[in-house]
Amino acid sequence: MSPAMHRSHRVAGALVGSAVGDALGAPFEFGPPGQFTARFPVPARGAKTEMCGGGSLGWAPGEFTDDTQMALLVASSLIEHDGLHEADLFDRFRTWVEAGPPDVGNQTRAVLGSNRPWDVAAAEHFQRAGHAAGNGSLMRTTPAAIFFARHGRDATMGAARRISALTHGDPSAGEGCAIFHELMRAALDGDDPLAAVPAALDLVADDHRERWATVLAPDWTPSDATESNGAVWPTLGQAVWALRHGRDFAEVLRLVIDLGGDTDTVAAVTGGLAGAVFGMGGIPMRWSSAVHGRVPGFGDRRWGLADLQELAAALDGKPLVSYDPGVIPRIGPREVLPGIWAGNLDGARYSEDDFAVISLCRLGDPFPHEVHRTAYVADNDYNHDVDTVLADVLDDMAALRAEGHRLLVHCHGGASRTGLVLRGWLIRTEGMSVEEATAHVAERWPHLGLWNASFTAALERLVPG
Ligand SMILES: [Mg+2]
Repeated sequence: MSPAMHRSHRVAGALVGSAVGDALGAPFEFGPPGQFTARFPVPARGAKTEMCGGGSLGWAPGEFTDDTQMALLVASSLIEHDGLHEADLFDRFRTWVEAGPPDVGNQTRAVLGSNRPWDVAAAEHFQRAGHAAGNGSLMRTTPAAIFFARHGRDATMGAARRISALTHGDPSAGEGCAIFHELMRAALDGDDPLAAVPAALDLVADDHRERWATVLAPDWTPSDATESNGAVWPTLGQAVWALRHGRDFAEVLRLVIDLGGDTDTVAAVTGGLAGAVFGMGGIPMRWSSAVHGRVPGFGDRRWGLADLQELAAALDGKPLVSYDPGVIPRIGPREVLPGIWAGNLDGARYSEDDFAVISLCRLGDPFPHEVHRTAYVADNDYNHDVDTVLADVLDDMAALRAEGHRLLVHCHGGASRTGLVLRGWLIRTEGMSVEEATAHVAERWPHLGLWNASFTAALERLVPG
C-alpha cells in the first residue's frame, strides 16, 4: 500500500475486486471452512484457475452473482442521475427481481416482492419480521462507496444508510454500510482503512456503536462471531479481519473464502476494500480477466473486466466512455522467443485462437481466444505497482508454457509493454542482465520500444542479487 498509487488504480481495483471476490467465492457458498485451500493448495495459474465455477447454483467459471448484479444496478442509477435517486434505484431492483435472477437474498426478495412503495417497503418488512440485519445491502454497496467518497465522510455515510434502507429496514445493516463507505473513502484516498476504523465508529449511531466496535476490534477473530456470516456484523468483521492479516489481494481473499458460509458475499465485500488498498494491479490477472456476468431484467449485455473498469472511472466522476481502438495495421504474431510470440493489438486480436494470449493494453471488443488474460500495465510513470503486475504475468506465463500453450504477448503497439514482458521473461528464465535481454529482444523484434524508464527500472529490480 502506498500513497504513490494513482487513484484510478484504486477505484478500478475496488469495483473489479468486489466482482472478483463474488465470483471466486460463489462456488464455495454455504460450504464448510477450508474448502478453497483444500481445493487450491497453491496458486492455479494454468489454463484452469481458482475461478472454477459450480456450486449449488451452477455458476460458470468467473461468473458473478446477485451481489454484483445488484451492485451494477446501484452503479448505473448513480451515474445516470449523477446522484442518489432512491425511487429509480428501487425500481431497478424490482425489475431485476421480477426477471428471476438465479440467486436473491430472502430479505431482498420479500421487500422487493411486496408491491409496496420504495419509501415504506423495507421499513414495513422490518416491523413485521423484526431481526433483519442480513448482509444483503452491504454486499452491493461498493459502487456507492466509490461514488460518494468524493463527497466527504458525512455524505458517504449518509448515502450508505439511505441505499441500505431501500431493502433493509434494520438500521444495523445501514450502519454497517456506512462504516464500509468510510473505510472505502480512506482507502481510495491512499490512507490505511484499518486506521480509519475508530473515526468511522465515532459516527455510528449510539445504540449500534458497541456491537460494531466489537467485530471491528483488532483482536476480534471470526471464531468470536455470534451469528453466521449471513448477518451484517460478521460479514464486515471478517472482511476487516482478512484485510488485517493478508499480505496481498490474493491472500486476503483466500483467508475470507476459507471461512466458509456466505463466501460469495463476504468475498465481494472484502474484495471491494482489498481492491482499493492493493489497486487494480494487485488483483491477479487470472481472476480479473475471468470475471463476467449479466444483469437479469436489463438486456443481454455481458459485463466483463473492461466494462467494470470503465464504470469504476465513471463512479469516480470521469465521463463514461466505452473504449474503441478502431482498426490498426496488424503487427505479428511472430515467434520472438521459443514458444513466445509477440504482436500488436490487432495482430493478436486476429491470431489463431489456440494461442494463450497475454494482453497488456485495453482491447475494445473482447477476443475470441479461450485462454486470454489481461494485465493492468500503465505505460507511464503512474505504475508504482508494475513489479507486482510483472511478477504476476511472468508466473502465469511460466505455468501456461509448462502446460504446453503457445503464448502470444501483446500491447497496443507491440513496443513498450510487450518489450517489458519479453525482456522480463529472459531475465527470469535465462538469467540475463537487462542489457543482454534488451539486445536479445531487439534483434528478434524490431518493434521493441524503450521509452519508459520506469519499465527498465522494474527490470533491474527483477535481476537477482
Ligand atoms: Mg451472491
